[in-house]
Amino acid sequence: APPHGRWQGPVRQPVRREAADQDKEYVGFATLPNQVHRKSVKKGFDFTLMVAGESGLGKSTLVNSLFLTDLYKDRKLLNAEERITQTVEITKHTVDIEEKGVKLKLTIVDTPGFGDAVNNTECWKSVADYIDQQFEQYFRDESGLNRKNIQDNRVHCCLYFISPFGHGLRPLDVEFMKALHEKVNIVPILAKADTLTPTEVKKKKFKIREEIQQYGIKIYQFPDCDSDEDEDFKQQDQELKDSIPFAVIGSNTVVEAKGKRVRGRLYPWGIVEVENSAHCDFVKLRNMLVRTHMQDLKDVTRETHYENYRAHCIQSMTRMVVKERNRNKLTRESGTDFPIPVIPSTTDTETEKLIREKDEESVPVQKHHRANFI
Ligand code: GDP
Repeated sequence: APPHGRWQGPVRQPVRREAADQDKEYVGFATLPNQVHRKSVKKGFDFTLMVAGESGLGKSTLVNSLFLTDLYKDRKLLNAEERITQTVEITKHTVDIEEKGVKLKLTIVDTPGFGDAVNNTECWKSVADYIDQQFEQYFRDESGLNRKNIQDNRVHCCLYFISPFGHGLRPLDVEFMKALHEKVNIVPILAKADTLTPTEVKKKKFKIREEIQQYGIKIYQFPDCDSDEDEDFKQQDQELKDSIPFAVIGSNTVVEAKGKRVRGRLYPWGIVEVENSAHCDFVKLRNMLVRTHMQDLKDVTRETHYENYRAHCIQSMTRMVVKERNRNKLTRESGTDFPIPVIPSTTDTETEKLIREKDEESVPVQKHHRANFI
């Protein structure tokens, strides 16, 4: 029997023991990764992706190609006149995708019409405000009573589309990215790469990278790969870093190329295949977003961008409290040293309910949730 006499529950995968380890006693925490894995799979994953950039650069087409869905079925395209006056209106689409039993709740935040209006000054403002609002909501929820069921709407990544027709970045691109780079992970995209020759793509990428550096734009930094990774992995990682900005092609149509049906664009001179890595970086981008860096994008959002926001909030709250205290000192002879939080005289029923729930939760012997095995 295990030394501490507590039953560990069924272990699905037998712990493999090396010959030399035969005599070693096991407590059983080697199953921790499995437990975490099961729990996360059961809960499902969520990810919020924002797309930004001038309209007409292929944002919606790319999103549909990336997630093999038609997220924009109900989209209403505006005519030229409507676009002149349009302000940046932000829309959100959510889809639940399931693959091999793993659920992903994907939210796409779209910023349509950006760059369309005659006056584009501060067009980034509403996007920046949107990101801040999500942080604010999270901050409120986190400091409130219902921490357990927080709906996390923070934006984890922003694909910023750069036109293939300009010479590198336009002033608006610089302004936009600089306004957002401390709030969200920006991944720059070179749109409609099929309109450029391979040499042009290379040159444009180089120029854009140079300008990003020159203007001090902080785009999402891929984490360094561990030194003990194998050479193949390291090489792939380096290639990924060198691909910035990802040159992409999107398409909502399936065409036949060499007897196979593929997502692509049909031209009189041939077919460009979206998923062919000789044609563009689409697969690299999708792998990065979905297979390799989704968790890191979420971590950076939480640990850096949200943390910045939070620190900022707390700082200004503290400043307010100090101001208030100083004012109290000036106006009252015997003021209290610390500000007393205002307790509402009548707590509303919702709050009462939450307090009750909290009280029940904090009973020392809780109802234990059995480990769920899937
Ligand atoms: P959005 O306004 O940025 O969402 O752009 P859309 O996705 O609506 O695309 C605008 C137009 O560009 C449509 O006619 C698309 O068919 C076309 N388009 C989308 N992606 C590409 C691409 O990668 N290459 C080319 N050449 N055209 C594209």
